[in-house]
Amino acid sequence: DSSLVWFRRDLRISDHAALYYALKQSKQVYCVFVYDRDILDALIADGLQADRRIDFIMACIAELDAALRAAGGALIVRHASAQQDIPALAAELGVDAVFTNHDYEPQAIKRDATVKNRLEKDGRQLLTYKDQVIFEKDEVLSLAGRPFSVFTPYKNAWMNKLSGPGGDFYLKPYPVDAYFAQLAPPSKKYHKALPTLEDLGFLPSNLKDLRIPTGMSGAAQLLEDFLPRLGKYGDTRDFPAIKGPSYLSVHLRFGTISIRTLARAAVDAMRIGEGRRGAPVWLSELVWRDFYFMILFHHPRVAERSFKSDYDAIQWEGGKHARDMFARWCEGRTGYPLVDAAMLQLNQTGYMHNRLRMVTASFLTKDLGIDWRWGEKYFADLLNDFDLSANNGGWQWASSSGCDAQPYFRIFNPITQSEKFDAEGKFIRRYLPQLAGLPDKHIHAPWLCPADLLKATGVKIGKDYPEPMVDHAEARKRTLLRYAVVKKDL
Ligand code: FAD
Repeated sequence: DSSLVWFRRDLRISDHAALYYALKQSKQVYCVFVYDRDILDALIADGLQADRRIDFIMACIAELDAALRAAGGALIVRHASAQQDIPALAAELGVDAVFTNHDYEPQAIKRDATVKNRLEKDGRQLLTYKDQVIFEKDEVLSLAGRPFSVFTPYKNAWMNKLSGPGGDFYLKPYPVDAYFAQLAPPSKKYHKALPTLEDLGFLPSNLKDLRIPTGMSGAAQLLEDFLPRLGKYGDTRDFPAIKGPSYLSVHLRFGTISIRTLARAAVDAMRIGEGRRGAPVWLSELVWRDFYFMILFHHPRVAERSFKSDYDAIQWEGGKHARDMFARWCEGRTGYPLVDAAMLQLNQTGYMHNRLRMVTASFLTKDLGIDWRWGEKYFADLLNDFDLSANNGGWQWASSSGCDAQPYFRIFNPITQSEKFDAEGKFIRRYLPQLAGLPDKHIHAPWLCPADLLKATGVKIGKDYPEPMVDHAEARKRTLLRYAVVKKDL
């Protein structure tokens, strides 16, 4: 009658599906989090020894442990290969079942299948629950009973299910607190001091300096800060210099707040009319999140290949030239200020504004002709909120190879995007102070600034700031030729 709750990307104590079902069904419930060597050692091997996400997780784990202790339990924290350690720990504790929440990534599905197998060999169960999405896998299907591959009809069906009979059920929080008495109390044997960064083999990142709020309290704080802005979200979300979006993505990634809490906040705002304009737009972004989880689950091949398979015939740039261009893009030295400022935001903070993710991804694939997978990997290494499903979806959207992606002939112009979404150059100036003196009008394409004006600012193009690495109009022509192999697709 005892069980083990395995926390993964759901680092909270409230409204938690697996924790709720475990507490309800068992007399004694242990809780565990594993710093999974299968994931972490790969990061270290990849050179990511200072990783903001590890610092973020550590802060969340400390808060989760404290919250469990306040509720009478505690968190067992291990540093091991989860697929070996979870069955071993379950056996040692003598629990009947391990409870955990669904994960939709191919590697995680494989890991969970191994754990399930090992547990079952020992006569134990792995019980898994939907938690990180509102609707998953096969819950929103087309009339023909098939998974959608176009967003708008998916979203309509998603909204209909939520507003239909019994729809409120999907937003209901799991009343975990009512059952805290079943939590296994802390014991010296299992509840040791939490591992330090050094124990895990990592170096400190700059997360603290960024003052990104962490843990459940951080998520609650960001939500509280965002709700008064929700009504204006539709008008502000595209402008990177404005505090428009919620900045909750890293919290959704690690589950310090439940998706039900957020979707409920949006639906409530829509119902009372407050934020009527912004709330549906924001809710729609949360639906995109569900959509990409669903796509990844049904089409795991997208993790490596194009959703539209004929796009795999595209010949991307290669060799040293491509590697050099890629390095300039990564380092924010393309000569296009908005692209460079965006890359610096990513490099310095681990966050990039959504509009800029689209602009930089388009620039890499359609101005430089570089394979979207290179950019996807770079984002995966650096984004605090990195999620395979959304990142892959975003990259395949920008490169036009994805489901419901933008058509291949729609190519963002990095200058007009800059003029439109950072008209006064406020965002650019934040990350490229050397351009601060340029007039607003010329900050988007400094090499076009009249010589006398440029001279007055003291900026030397080619010295203080790079010349543009490609001519957009020419790059556009090359891209249309490159994509000619998929034209039949239209
Ligand atoms: P808000 O605007 O407040 O949106 C609320 C939430 O909705 C986000 O936190 C996120 O969970 C979800 N969301 C918003 N837009 C999308 C979207 N297009 N697809 C899926 N979910 C969305 N998002 C990630 O969470 N992880 C990624 O690795 C990621 N990589 C991306 C790569 C590219 C090339 C692109 C174009 C987009 C990517 N996105 C990714 C989506 C989006 O840019 C971020 O979710 C958003 O910028 C996060 O900021 P926020 O929390 O302030 O968003």
